[in-house]
Amino acid sequence: MSSLKADVYVSPPIPWKKPNGTVGGPWSPITSTLIHSPSSAILVDTPITISQTTDLITWIKATIPTKKLTKIYITHGHGDHFFGLPLLLKEFPEAEAIATKGTVEHMKQQITPQLLSKTWEIQFPDQIAKPFILATPLPENGEIDLDGHTLHAIDVGQADTHSSTILWVPSLKLAVCGDVVYGTVHQMLGECDTRAKRDAWIASIRKVGALGPEMVVPGHKRASEMDGSYHLAATRVYIETFEEMLGRAKDARELAGWMLERYPERFNEGALIVGCVNAFRALKREREGKL
Ligand SMILES: [Zn+2]
Repeated sequence: MSSLKADVYVSPPIPWKKPNGTVGGPWSPITSTLIHSPSSAILVDTPITISQTTDLITWIKATIPTKKLTKIYITHGHGDHFFGLPLLLKEFPEAEAIATKGTVEHMKQQITPQLLSKTWEIQFPDQIAKPFILATPLPENGEIDLDGHTLHAIDVGQADTHSSTILWVPSLKLAVCGDVVYGTVHQMLGECDTRAKRDAWIASIRKVGALGPEMVVPGHKRASEMDGSYHLAATRVYIETFEEMLGRAKDARELAGWMLERYPERFNEGALIVGCVNAFRALKREREGKL
């Protein structure tokens, strides 16, 4: 039996703002996973804001009061999975933030002034800890040591963004999946605006499935959800359903309506709408390109 244990914390949804200052909707709940040996621990992913991260720190201290947090692994470069680093590293100065090379490059792009001023700083004004901290790139083999247990950072490629990774814990058959896998929350297809990218996301899910995980932690899920391996199939079927409906829908509104009818239990329809709009924009670009 493995001496490792794992806990999952879910940062509750918070409102984000539009450029005119009004509330745009809720941000999806975000998971942070703590994997711990009898003496030390690794945290996977952080939430966005100062207040969310403060709550996460309180939870970590209560969950592993006698253990040392030695590492924080970031699954992919989206800001909603690493903006909590400055506060966490201040609280746990012995911890090291780590990620694959591809994720570190993506993190750098997320914090450029051009991107920040159009996205995160508008959506969460004065709520994000500064200065930003990037992760240190892992060696090419992606191996991470936790008290003699080897964990594996695996770059599976495309998911809700490029260069997406999962953390594989063989002795627990646990896959901490970041946004390669979603729970009962609408999947962000905004960047997967072409068939090729959506197919690539499905291929990434299959790579996780091939590891034979018994526990699968989605990057975004409702707090009450179990971390079942069934999330793999559900995430894949959602993309396949979107693809099939996209082929029949006349516009983004119709597609979103059908998806909402099919998935009334999924949280955060705002994420779905971005995906629908971008998919139709890409179709238009393709048609114009062919003319
Ligand atoms: Zn993401």
